[in-house]
Amino acid sequence: MTQIALVIVDVPTMQTNTPYSYLIPTTLQHQLQPGMRITVPFGRGDRRVQGFVWAIQEATADTQLDDLKTIDSVMDLTPVINAELMSLADWLAQTTYAFTITCLQTMLPNVLKAKYEKWVTPLPTLSTEKRQAVFGNQTRLLWDDHLSTEQLHDLLQLSRQHDIEISYAVKNQARVKTVTMVQANETPEALATAKAGLRKTATKQASLLDYLISHDAPIKQRDLEQQLNVSASILKTAEQNGWVKRTAQEVYRDPFQSAVIKTKPLTLNADQERAVSAITSATNQQDAKTFLLEGVTGSGKTEVYLQAIANTLEHGKNALMLVPEISLTPQIVGRVRGRFGKQVAVLHSGLSVGERFDEWRRINRGEARVVVGARSAVFAPLNNLGVIIVDEEHEASYKQDDNPRYHARDVAIWRSHYHSCPVVLGSATPSLESRARAQKQVYQLLNLPHRVNHQQLPDVSIIDMTEELRHHKESNFSSELLSAITTRLNRGEQSLLMLNRRGYSSFVMCRDCGFVVPCPNCDISLTLHMDTKTMKCHYCGHEEPIPRVCPNCRGHHIRYYGTGTQKVEAELHELLPDARIIRMDVDTTRRKGAHERLLKQFGDHQADILLGTQMIAKGLDFPDVTLVGVLNADTSLGLPDFRASERTFQLLTQVSGRAGRADKPGQVFIQTYNPDHYAIQLAKRQDYEQFFVKEMRLRHRGNYPPYFYAVKLTASDLDERKAATAMISIVRQLKATLSANVIILGPTPGAVARINNRYYYQLVIKYKHEPALNQALFTILGQAQKQSRGGLQIAIDRNPMSFM
Ligand code: ADP
Ligand code: ZN
Repeated sequence: MTQIALVIVDVPTMQTNTPYSYLIPTTLQHQLQPGMRITVPFGRGDRRVQGFVWAIQEATADTQLDDLKTIDSVMDLTPVINAELMSLADWLAQTTYAFTITCLQTMLPNVLKAKYEKWVTPLPTLSTEKRQAVFGNQTRLLWDDHLSTEQLHDLLQLSRQHDIEISYAVKNQARVKTVTMVQANETPEALATAKAGLRKTATKQASLLDYLISHDAPIKQRDLEQQLNVSASILKTAEQNGWVKRTAQEVYRDPFQSAVIKTKPLTLNADQERAVSAITSATNQQDAKTFLLEGVTGSGKTEVYLQAIANTLEHGKNALMLVPEISLTPQIVGRVRGRFGKQVAVLHSGLSVGERFDEWRRINRGEARVVVGARSAVFAPLNNLGVIIVDEEHEASYKQDDNPRYHARDVAIWRSHYHSCPVVLGSATPSLESRARAQKQVYQLLNLPHRVNHQQLPDVSIIDMTEELRHHKESNFSSELLSAITTRLNRGEQSLLMLNRRGYSSFVMCRDCGFVVPCPNCDISLTLHMDTKTMKCHYCGHEEPIPRVCPNCRGHHIRYYGTGTQKVEAELHELLPDARIIRMDVDTTRRKGAHERLLKQFGDHQADILLGTQMIAKGLDFPDVTLVGVLNADTSLGLPDFRASERTFQLLTQVSGRAGRADKPGQVFIQTYNPDHYAIQLAKRQDYEQFFVKEMRLRHRGNYPPYFYAVKLTASDLDERKAATAMISIVRQLKATLSANVIILGPTPGAVARINNRYYYQLVIKYKHEPALNQALFTILGQAQKQSRGGLQIAIDRNPMSFM
């Protein structure tokens, strides 16, 4: 029977979730598999476009074969998307209002997405005759358009027998990395004869032969050179003499910069025991349950994860652990590796393209059985999952703010159903959504109410900065906090100081006329960067020198405002000249490995104070930190967003939890201008449950999530009027189709109304039960496709992280 492929094509502006039918060329019949990428002719001009084979069907008697176009060529030897991820892509497209092709592309590692050179390489199993037939005298074969379908047929068949594979070359980065191995090429007797024939002075060659006589296992050339103190030229001569053979052996790049210390499972306390046994019995019974592990900071959640993973591995299954990007500290990764060693693969944006590709292949080949990674690691092609863990499940970074706008937590739950395995959402401060679901018993709540060994939670004091201002000169440090830091310095203990930078920036202002330098492309003021001595726009990247005279009034009284980390660091140096300070913010951690290096320095006591932004709030576990100071608790509180209190509470609780984790008690100071705000008061008591009750009441009153669902729509265009008009007509359209119970907020200009010269308008739809909404949004999406050629862009964000 003739086979037909259903193909999801990649054509921007003409996207659709419906696959197109293509004829599979005769030579490739029964060779293609769903999940492979191919190229096909598309449209009237038969433009060559990429596509994914979505399904393969036999043609029936009614199929009009003459009407079908034929697949051009094949891009992969094996499927790059497996069956599970294909159906996940389908679900994602339906639930995030994205196109299936976008979802499929999102799941691939970067190296597979762009146009890289591809090489077919033989595997050891390939027979000599076949190798000769396919590769001739070459070691590898360039995979490009010139391959005939006959050649493709042979290659696909060899690939299925695991005789060949494809490697990718991106400016040398993602090429399969190799090391040169050296091995004896003759019998010990023959080598001994060769040694007997050497000149007396040829001592290096003699020692090499001695080595070869007594070792027949391959050794890395570099190691051999070091061990025998011989040069590469000696080895080259040895090869020419036929004594040794040198071969290239594939190695994986090692993304881990430091060695780990092997750890053993700890003896669990009663609460941990209860949690672990609930999770393991779900794993063992193949029960796709969602657990919410609510445990105060330092209650030993990580140990629960590790033992749940260990049980999974014992049962021959694999595990996936998600952690927020920012807390992908070597600390967390180190703890997982310390327990599971080489079985662990790590996926996050700090890895090079090549490193990530290697990790992805280890996972794809089933060599890595535990994956730790940030948001996109939720698509790791692990088979046979036994448990999925989402650490710090409340973190906003789990939501992707670009298409497909998915939440990793939702994807994790979807996969847990696919694999019939439990998923564990862990947090000291769960999102209200998750906690509310646990309340309704949709999730099973597991509690760790105490710190390990019943250490006290740190003692938290709130410092009213309005009072401080009245009595002292303007400073980032209250006298209480300053004296607490001094005490730590004297005792040789460490302090963590956090500057809450969300929605806040340093800027320059003219003291004479009040002029603030704006970005020419965006409706926002430029941020001061002292390291580069420039002003930068955090939205579009525009950069310009710091003005000496006011561009507005020509005055000379330019003043620096705001509290950047650099400015705080300078003040701290002035106040405490002897203190050794490490600053951690986007500027000091931009370079690869910098984050890890700074934390290691702090852990090694090379500094007394770690000063940083939100990135130091989470996951750190330093036993000698006995003081945490929050310099400005309120900046996230003032945001016009329904989650402002929740975010503030979470942040303060998290950062407070960094103090006093070992035997020494911890102390926390929170500086604020809103000392009576409930989010701050309850964070002081680390009382999540009370916060939940209070915040739920407010959400209920305001018709906010989790009582209502929300969808945010954003229109943007270079022409402000076009963006606004599009929104107004969308509102009209929605009102005509949806029920009277739906609440529509807007349209309003975006929180930053203009970014990179594009104008933003948005609206928020709040609803409880709205069966017609899905169809209405897909209709809007379809219309937006057509308008996008004129420059208008519409984004649909279901369950947005904020309304701003
Ligand atoms: P969390 O993730 O809840 O903040 P951690 O897992 O980091 O807490 O645990 C805090 C500290 O307690 C860690 O240093 C950890 O090694 C230790 N710990 C956890 N469980 C136990 C246990 N059962 N016995 C002894 N120490 C433990
Ligand atoms: Zn800008």
